[in-house]
Amino acid sequence: MSQSKIPFLDLKAHHDPIRQEVMAAMNEVIDANAFAGGPFVARFEEAYAKFCDAKFCIGVGNGTDSLWFSLLALGVGPGDEVITVPMTFMATAEAITYAGAKPVFVDIDPQTYTIDPTQIEAAITPRTKAIMPVHLFGQCADMDPIMAIAKKHNLFVVEDAAQAQGTTYRGRKAGTIGHAASFSFYPGKNLGAWGEAGAVTTNDAALREKVAMFREHGQKKKYYHDVVGWNGRMDGLQAAVLSVKLKYLEQANNQRRRAAALYNQLLAGTPGVTLPSEAAYGQSIYHIYAVRAAHRDRLIQLLGERGVATGIHYPVPVHLQQAYANLGYRRGNFPVSEACADSFLSLPMFPELTNQQIEIVVREFKDCLRLVAGGAA
Ligand SMILES: *Cc1c(COP(=O)(O)O)cnc(C)c1O
Repeated sequence: MSQSKIPFLDLKAHHDPIRQEVMAAMNEVIDANAFAGGPFVARFEEAYAKFCDAKFCIGVGNGTDSLWFSLLALGVGPGDEVITVPMTFMATAEAITYAGAKPVFVDIDPQTYTIDPTQIEAAITPRTKAIMPVHLFGQCADMDPIMAIAKKHNLFVVEDAAQAQGTTYRGRKAGTIGHAASFSFYPGKNLGAWGEAGAVTTNDAALREKVAMFREHGQKKKYYHDVVGWNGRMDGLQAAVLSVKLKYLEQANNQRRRAAALYNQLLAGTPGVTLPSEAAYGQSIYHIYAVRAAHRDRLIQLLGERGVATGIHYPVPVHLQQAYANLGYRRGNFPVSEACADSFLSLPMFPELTNQQIEIVVREFKDCLRLVAGGAA
């Protein structure tokens, strides 16, 4: 079979048309010697806050810093518990641990793959301080019931919006509903830097000030340290790159939505395949297009042999990671997350993915499904 390979993500295709514009922006940073924090970061913060419709944005080093600083700024620390999901990237739980608190997991909803609000209250204890919903794959968690539970129990809500730059929930942007939200601009995210970057958004001025202090060694004034902070600044170069790329984010998200709609159409009714479902409350930005299928590992291998790159997000839920063996969870504790980890298969997804490429992916995928189902594989 002669066919060009279909990558999982094609950053070069995304960057080539804007390369000159980004390079010019980077040259401005070099001319200004504004490398660590500084005016280019401030400019991006303003633009990103506006994009989200949040009052404040604080640029930081990466999306793990932004989770961590959000918790520290809210006063989460030793002895506290933070509720989150096991079906997420490890960083969500790591940030809780590094704040000195304990991650407590709640399973995900089988439709949205985000935290199941009906299971949150059972996990609340006198030590619970915050809830950290994860907007997995670009779809918002069901924030209204989460905020209602938080209000009732006097808890903070920190949105892990690493995969949700532009996601909407009942007409609002993800990252503006909780007390604070954390964004990652890791290169592969929908809005990605040319290196590492992240940001916190909030509508709370006091919180903004605290996060800004933590990212800057706990100082408000240079060399006067109010608290023990960290070096968590955003690079000027990354801010310049992000400011350019932000202009194209909505268009890129729409292109992803177009790709997802075509996948949905072409894969509809395929036996043994569960398609992603978009909740009626908002729009996903399809950071990841994940289907569920039996014999997932075999399918990935066969697709790879046919030049179709795929991924698994994520193969091991956090409660079963070796690193968290000390928390004492076992297989069977979170059946939806576990079943998803065993069956999730992420198909190629990026804005420049052509309709023709999608047709090829679907054709090959269906062919591989037949092989696997027939046992001929
Ligand atoms: C990417 C990601 C993070 C971490 O962001 P980094 O910028 O890589 O530190 C946190 N949570 C989720 C859900 C992510 O996808």
